[in-house]
Amino acid sequence: MNMKEPVITIRNINHYYGKGALRKQILFNINLEVYAGEIVIMTGPSGSGKTTLLSLIGGLRSVQEGSLKLLGKELFAASQSKLVQSRRNIGYIFQAHNLLGFLTARQNVQMAVELNQRISQSQAIKKSEAMLGAVGLTERVNYYPDNLSGGQKQRIAIARALVNQPPLVLADEPTAALDKQSGRDVVEIMQRLAKEQGTAILLVTHDNRILDIADRIVEMEDGLLTRDAKNLPANNKVNFPVSDHH
Ligand code: ADP
Ligand code: MG
Repeated sequence: MNMKEPVITIRNINHYYGKGALRKQILFNINLEVYAGEIVIMTGPSGSGKTTLLSLIGGLRSVQEGSLKLLGKELFAASQSKLVQSRRNIGYIFQAHNLLGFLTARQNVQMAVELNQRISQSQAIKKSEAMLGAVGLTERVNYYPDNLSGGQKQRIAIARALVNQPPLVLADEPTAALDKQSGRDVVEIMQRLAKEQGTAILLVTHDNRILDIADRIVEMEDGLLTRDAKNLPANNKVNFPVSDHH
C-alpha cells in the first residue's frame, strides 16, 4: 500500500433503510478521508447516522451508493469474503464491551489473536498478557469480566481491538457507559497505543470532555457531514469549557 494513501477514503456515499414506500435516506453524499495514525472524533445528535456510517466503514453492512475504500480496497460491490478480509484490518470497540463472560480477560484478548494470526498458543498468551499490561490490567489478566468494573472491561475491549495492531480502530461511543474519570482513562489509553502503533482511530462520541484527544473533529447532522476540521487546542478551550453542575 502507498503510505500516503488514506486508511479510509469515502466518496459520495448515500445510504437508505427500508424498501418501497418505507425507503428512507439516512446518509447524504458523505465524503471523508482518514489517514494513518490520525485520531478522528465524530460527534452529532442521536439518529444522525453515525453508527450507520461506522458499520459501512467496518464492512458490517454493504455499501449501496458511492465509493468506500479501506486501505485502497473498494468495498462497494465487494463480495462477502472480501468484506471478511477487510474486517481483519479493523479493531472494533463498542459502547457495550461485548466481552465473553465465560472467558477471562486474557482469554478474551487471546481469542482475537488466535482468530487473526497463525501463532503458537504460548505466543498468543504472551501477546495478550503484554497488551493487557499496556492497558494497565497486569493484575487482572485472570479475572472474569463480571468481576471487573466498567472501565476495566472497556480496557480489555481496547486490548482486544489493538492486540493485532490493526491499521484502523472503529469505536462507537466507547465511554458512554463509563464515569468521567474511567472514560477519560480509556480514551487516553487508546490515544497512546494508537500513536505508538500508527493506528488510525475513528471514534464516535457524545462526550465533549474527550474531544481534545482528537486530531480532527467531524460532525454529522441529519445524515450530512457538516463539519470536518483540524482540532485546534486553543479553540477547544473556548468551545468546550469544563462546567460544574450543581
Ligand atoms: P446514530 O448512530 O447517529 O444515533 P444511526 O446510524 O444509528 O444514528 O441511525 C440513523 C437513522 O437510521 C435513525 O433514524 C435510525 O432510526 C435509523 N436506523 C438505524 N438502523 C436502522 C435499521 N437497521 N433499519 C432501519 N432504520 C435504521
Ligand atoms: Mg449510534
